[in-house]
Amino acid sequence: MIIPVRCFTCGKVIGHLWDPYIKRVKNGEDPGKVLDELGVTKPCCRRMFISHLELIDEIILYELKLTPKVRKKEEV
Ligand SMILES: [Zn+2]
Repeated sequence: MIIPVRCFTCGKVIGHLWDPYIKRVKNGEDPGKVLDELGVTKPCCRRMFISHLELIDEIILYELKLTPKVRKKEEV
C-alpha cells in the first residue's frame, strides 16, 4: 500500500528512497543498479522495494465509492 518507513527485518530507514527509486525505474533504469546507487545493498531491504505494490491510489477510489453506502446503512 504505502512503502514502510523502515525495513521489516533490519530496521534501516528506507521510506524516503521510494520516490527516487520508482522515478528512476519508470524512466527505464535497471532496478538492481538503482538500489545499489541508493545504498540499498542488503537483501532484506531490497525485497522491500522489489515486492512493494503501490496500491493506495486504487484503494482510495473504492473507499470513496463505498463510504456513502456504508453511511446510509448505518443511518437506517
Ligand atoms: Zn533490511
